[in-house]
Amino acid sequence: MPHYDLVIVGTGSGNSILDPRFADWNTAIVEKGTFGGTCLNVGCIPTKMFVHAANVAATPATSSKFGVDEELTGVRWRDVRDRIFGRIDPIAAGGREYRVQHEDNKNVTVYEGEGRFTGHKELRVSYSDGRPAETITADKFVLAAGGRPVIPDIPGLAETGYHTSDTVMRLDELPSSIVILGGGYIAAEFAHVFASFGVDVTVVNRSGALLRSEDDDVSARFTELAAQRFDVRLDRKTVRARKTASGVALDLEGPEGAETVEADVLLVATGRTPNSDLLDVAATGVTTGERGHVVVDEYQQTVVDGIYALGDISSVFELKHVANHEQRVVQHNLLHPDERIEADHRFVPHAVFTSPQVASVGLTEREARERGVSYVTSHQDYAGIAYGWAMEDTTGFAKLLADPATGQLLGAHIIGPQASSVIQPLIQAMSFGLDAKSMARGQYWIHPAMPELVENALLNLPLD
Ligand SMILES: Cc1cc2nc3c(=O)[nH]c(=O)nc-3n(C[C@H](O)[C@H](O)[C@H](O)COP(=O)(O)OP(=O)(O)OC[C@H]3O[C@@H](n4cnc5c(N)ncnc54)[C@H](O)[C@@H]3O)c2cc1C
Repeated sequence: MPHYDLVIVGTGSGNSILDPRFADWNTAIVEKGTFGGTCLNVGCIPTKMFVHAANVAATPATSSKFGVDEELTGVRWRDVRDRIFGRIDPIAAGGREYRVQHEDNKNVTVYEGEGRFTGHKELRVSYSDGRPAETITADKFVLAAGGRPVIPDIPGLAETGYHTSDTVMRLDELPSSIVILGGGYIAAEFAHVFASFGVDVTVVNRSGALLRSEDDDVSARFTELAAQRFDVRLDRKTVRARKTASGVALDLEGPEGAETVEADVLLVATGRTPNSDLLDVAATGVTTGERGHVVVDEYQQTVVDGIYALGDISSVFELKHVANHEQRVVQHNLLHPDERIEADHRFVPHAVFTSPQVASVGLTEREARERGVSYVTSHQDYAGIAYGWAMEDTTGFAKLLADPATGQLLGAHIIGPQASSVIQPLIQAMSFGLDAKSMARGQYWIHPAMPELVENALLNLPLD
């Protein structure tokens, strides 16, 4: 039975651990899917490349208010798709080739199969092509096996040929209609993409608001705007899914009784779950929390000495920048077991690349209230800054929460153009402890640029 110093399961962020500093380690990598993991192949990167194309396609719909008459005459879906995957697929293939073939990796054995723990630090790797399974052991493991889409238990769903975010970007034809089940960030991003390409979009959500984990003001504004653009069905229970001659139908129950929505394609975007169960981490003594995330300490180590975990399998944030940060922490701690460092999860930002964009860091107002934190808020509309006039923006805003006594920022929430970039100075201020007054007046703000939204929001805070 082959024994290694270190085995890494998963080649998303886990693939970045092994660098020349591990040249003396006898190591193995286990990957059951495509090298590079979710972000590169079916997550952040292709979705944002689709979103950019969607933003280009959506421009004519709003151009006339600037006195410019544009027309969208076509979307060549296969060209959109093939430009994106023509860029990404070779990167994934190159990453695999580097690990499998390159001289730098002669200390790395790649197992291209599915790992599952069968005992303490004992992993069985099985292959879909009929090769016999192998069992490997190691002194140390890194669990970086990510997560997968949750498929709700709806009668008939399995027979519909539904899509998830793993498959919908590779469709051969642009559908004329799509129904999206779910109201989180993946649903919001794909709704924007498909609607911008001229597809009729229906969003079906169990709860009464979209992007529900955002600050309530942001969620309410996004829900209101989404309802103007898509057919949004809230507070709906999906009781049955059916395959129809032209696509799929969902039978729903909602506030007004029973109803049915139909579309060419169904996208299930009802959340993600960690792969800890399929990896059977319990067999090696690793514990999991309520939602199946592997439990780790501040050093990213599980309850088993020498078994570390990172990214979506252990992180409730389920974000690539968090997986990458944790990867650096695990890498350091493997190399320097006597000088281990802690992961920093104090100010984790995120963005939703829908339209309008949403970005957030820190506490929502609801969280601040629930925690009994002393806070004040400020609000600044894009419509109140010069660049907002240029863009004719009437719906975007920034909302800040700060400690009234110290001026330390507690949370920042933005909905509007380029929110994912506009928020960055606020993340920086929170990470480095810069108070609102110093931040607002201690630097120049380029006029008339979009970050004036942040400057004004800071100045609007009613601090002591
Ligand atoms: C549609 C979509 C859009 C997203 N957009 C963003 C975004 O804009 N910004 C952002 O920060 N995050 C985004 N994310 C989340 C981001 O992709 C993940 O947080 C990140 O990829 C997690 O990295 P990871 O290394 O933990 O896991 P992954 O990248 O998922 O890697 C895990 C790897 O392990 C392999 N594996 C799993 N089980 C086994 C096993 N038993 N044996 C062997 N191999 C196994 C998998 O095949 C996979 O390659 C998005 C996700 C999705 C789905």
